[in-house]
Amino acid sequence: MRIEIDCQICSHNESKEKSSFVRYARLCSVRDDGIYEFECPEGHRSITVLRTPKHEVLFAIASNALLDGYLREAIASFAASLERFYEFVIRVICRAKSIPQKDIEKCWKSISKQSERQLGAFTMLWFVEIGDPPDLLPNKMIELRNQVIHQGKVPTYQECIKFGQAVIDVISPIECTMLDKFPDNHKDECFALSRYVRAKHEQPLTILSIASPLSAAIQEDISLEICLERLCLHRRVQSVPSIGSEIIKSIAVHLVQQEI
Ligand SMILES: [Zn+2]
Repeated sequence: MRIEIDCQICSHNESKEKSSFVRYARLCSVRDDGIYEFECPEGHRSITVLRTPKHEVLFAIASNALLDGYLREAIASFAASLERFYEFVIRVICRAKSIPQKDIEKCWKSISKQSERQLGAFTMLWFVEIGDPPDLLPNKMIELRNQVIHQGKVPTYQECIKFGQAVIDVISPIECTMLDKFPDNHKDECFALSRYVRAKHEQPLTILSIASPLSAAIQEDISLEICLERLCLHRRVQSVPSIGSEIIKSIAVHLVQQEI
């Protein structure tokens, strides 16, 4: 998946004086750190920070992989999205408890490399805080994920849809409860990276968020399939074809008759 980073400086300067102008944009792969530095051909240097939380970015990567026909990659990224969502919840609740960031990082270090420990920490923290155990991924879906990630299984398109929908079904009620109970802490966690980058750099900073199929599914209560239809339309505007599970190619064949 690629995202578009604009040069805000020349867009801003030129738009004041002219009715039309050249807008420079860099089309780049998603970065793990969420920080995008760009020097446009006019020499303007800018920093753009992606404020979309990691789990939403991973869900968008999975959705795009599905439309590109990369089915194993779609399941791997849907699964990673859920794991990062558990981390996000833990961090939001720690913020709600006013725990200093350095103490959170110190504690997180002890569970950061093992997803089972993170799942355990999330489950108990949520139970203690909310009073009900969270709904987790059904066993059938865990089996599918393990087969894909550890045994090299190539899932079908429909299996990917079912898996992605199961991830939405787990995340959606938890996200809604969080937005209801900890709205300020949720917002703080989303903007944590941009605050950190702003404090570190003196040059202008642009905060970007990308279209998030996961957020649309939760906020509008729509299925993954409808989110994918929208993403297809969005990609069509950008002239990106959506293959999905298969595509029919038409090939013009010209036979040349040989002279005897
Ligand atoms: Zn520029």
